[in-house]
Amino acid sequence: MIQAVGTGDHHHRPESGVPGQRRRRLLLLGAAGLVLPALLPGAARAAGVSRASLTQEGHRTRLALTLDGGLRWELSAQAEPPALLLDLPRGTWHGASSLAAAGCVSALRVANTRTGTRVTLLLTGPIATPRVLSRDSLLMLELRPGGGPAFARMAAAGRLAQSTGPARRPSASLPLVVLDPGHGGRDPGAIGAHGTHEKRITLAVAHELKRQLEAAGFCRVALTRSRDVFIPLAQRVEVARKHQAALFLSIHADSAPPETARHARGASVYTLGETASDALAAALARRENLADKAGGLRLPSVPPEVLSILFSLMRQETRAGSERLARLVVAALDDETTMLPHSHRRAGFVVLKAPDVPAALVELGFLSHPQDEEALGKPAHRARLAAALVQAVQGYLARSQQAALGGAVPGAASP
Ligand SMILES: [Zn+2]
Repeated sequence: MIQAVGTGDHHHRPESGVPGQRRRRLLLLGAAGLVLPALLPGAARAAGVSRASLTQEGHRTRLALTLDGGLRWELSAQAEPPALLLDLPRGTWHGASSLAAAGCVSALRVANTRTGTRVTLLLTGPIATPRVLSRDSLLMLELRPGGGPAFARMAAAGRLAQSTGPARRPSASLPLVVLDPGHGGRDPGAIGAHGTHEKRITLAVAHELKRQLEAAGFCRVALTRSRDVFIPLAQRVEVARKHQAALFLSIHADSAPPETARHARGASVYTLGETASDALAAALARRENLADKAGGLRLPSVPPEVLSILFSLMRQETRAGSERLARLVVAALDDETTMLPHSHRRAGFVVLKAPDVPAALVELGFLSHPQDEEALGKPAHRARLAAALVQAVQGYLARSQQAALGGAVPGAASP
């Protein structure tokens, strides 16, 4: 049985940072019969951070925290001195009060503030937008060195990420991201050497990405399909257009013909091309577009001249957005997984043809390659890919909102 301790109770808990003192005070309170069962050893844990570790791997530094009891947290950055700030409810940090420096973190400090507990990660210099992975009781921040101006903008922008609370509902004013898990139902998509169906991988990645995006709290998310069902390509595009999505991201896994299957591996990103950028891209576009025929449906036939006029009106702006989105996706994935050479390609995918919604299609790897197939079958790998895509989407939306505000960064004037 779990005795819930409301987050409001933190204010009434002992504030001493010394574990021994804390325990003694709790015991005294216990003797008086005032301690909630959840605070006693052996009972369900109260909300708090029970473990913290700081590790370095290559140019990446990771802070991993074990959170108990649905702890609320909020992450922001500070320009001078460069630091990341993790704000928690008061008295909820039970991890070490300091950790050895690692990678781009020179020191970790924990202090009580007027409103809560602040964990300060002092940085050796500016960092890129941190990746935030939040799953069940694990919160992981992954940090990499980055540019000074981008870091200053990040510090000025306020909250970077926060926990999802039961009371918080997605605001209708947040931009909508439409995720499109490729294939489904009677259309399995590519089939791996060991029998993996593309449609299952795309759906698993889309669900994970949706979860991570919603946890990060900067956008709303809709899926073109949330289960194993066939959805015609044109209908997928319509989902994005009807809801005036800020962006559309189609998720796929690749497959190469037998003669190149041994070598072809890695992720790639596609945007709409008037003519496909190479023969491989053209063949792929044909294959993905054939998905409609697999479902026994045809696209409405529109004369090509009419299409071309309609598209040219809106497409220029949409195209610029799509290209920027694709660049961000390539940069984020490049850090996380093997990439196909010439990672950004152009092809005539039907799902990218909304003239008014910036769109990209990501092929997360080759199911025809044994290593790619094995990796894509692993939830941990899919979670890392999703975290990279979160970073790309966040970067895309941040710039779009900035552009909408006339180039001003919110809060840029304040120190
Ligand atoms: Zn596909």
